[in-house]
Amino acid sequence: MNSDEDCPVTPPKKYKRGSNIFVDDWLTSGEFKGWLEKVPDDVTKAKCKACKTLLNCGKNDLQKHAAGKKHCDNIKLIKASVNIRDALQRPTSNSEQKKISERS
Ligand SMILES: [Zn+2]
Repeated sequence: MNSDEDCPVTPPKKYKRGSNIFVDDWLTSGEFKGWLEKVPDDVTKAKCKACKTLLNCGKNDLQKHAAGKKHCDNIKLIKASVNIRDALQRPTSNSEQKKISERS
């Protein structure tokens, strides 16, 4: 009789675990600073302020999102709107006069 059951057991698929929870450090440092927002209801999610979309809290996912063209465009829009606000607060001098010399 075979007391030894030597049938190979296929190991269950290993899922990468670890940094799938929001890291507060992302808000203050690193490449996600400025557009990443914490989701209070779900620690496994993060929100992109620029795209107004929910993201998974994997660093790879966030990096992939950050590299996306749509995201880059949205970041530019945010920065542009900030610049406009900044410009409105600053009184611009309209003393620029262009003299056009006419030659006949
Ligand atoms: Zn985004």
